[in-house]
Order: sequence, then structure tokens, then C-alpha cells
Amino acid sequence: MLINKNIKLLVVHCSDTEDNENLNAIDIHKMHLSFGWDGIGYHKVITRSGKIEDGRPEYWIGAHVKGKNDVSLGVCLIGKTSFTKKQFTSLERVLKKWKTLYPNAKIIGHKDIGNTNKTCPNFDVLTWAKNIDEYN
Ligand SMILES: [Zn+2]
Repeated sequence: MLINKNIKLLVVHCSDTEDNENLNAIDIHKMHLSFGWDGIGYHKVITRSGKIEDGRPEYWIGAHVKGKNDVSLGVCLIGKTSFTKKQFTSLERVLKKWKTLYPNAKIIGHKDIGNTNKTCPNFDVLTWAKNIDEYN
């Protein structure tokens, strides 16, 4: 079980599926089941149209970032390289809500964890997150 005060990282991912594939949380759930996992590994999914869908509840440890699942929450943007404006608006909404609930948590991209050779989510989350902090 995830304990609120232990949440140190809010990790942004992408589904690494083609940008024209309009997948949703159920599709990711099926994909992760097929890996032999206990279903969807993320806590939130943001579809191409910007819809925010629930994955695992926030009290359930995710399966999205090796070695850090017990101290993090994960949100996944559907797509690979080019995300929609609506997705970024929704991402901001999810992360701002999480920041109010978990004020000590830091927003990072999956690749920023350092123990992966993945490029996920294929944009610079640190710079993006800095801008939303400054202008809002
Ligand atoms: Zn990832």
C-alpha cells in the first residue's frame, strides 16, 4: 500500500504507442495484463483528446518505474512523440491536484529517474514542469 507521506515522485510517462492510435486506460490495462502484471500499472491515463482516466487507485502501488514504485505515482500520456495541447492541459490538472495532495513530491519524467535507458515520455518534463510552476 502507498502511504501519502512517502510519495516523493510524480512520474510522467507516455504509452509509447503510435500518435494516431487513440488508446484509453482499458487498452493499457489489457496491455499490462498481457505482460502478466496485475493490470494497469499507472494511476492516471490521459487520452489523445485530453480525457483523464483512472488507472490504479492512489493507495495502490503502481507498476511503472523500476525501483521507485513504492514512492511514486505515475501518469501516462497516450502517444509517442507528439502530444496534443489538450493532453498537456490535462497533465497540468492532474499534477497540480497531486501537488496539493502530495506537496513534497517532485514532478519528473520517467527517463529522469536515471536507472533506465528509456526516453519516456519523449519530452523534457523538468523544463515543462518548471514553467507551469512559474506561470501559475
Ligand atoms: Zn515510462
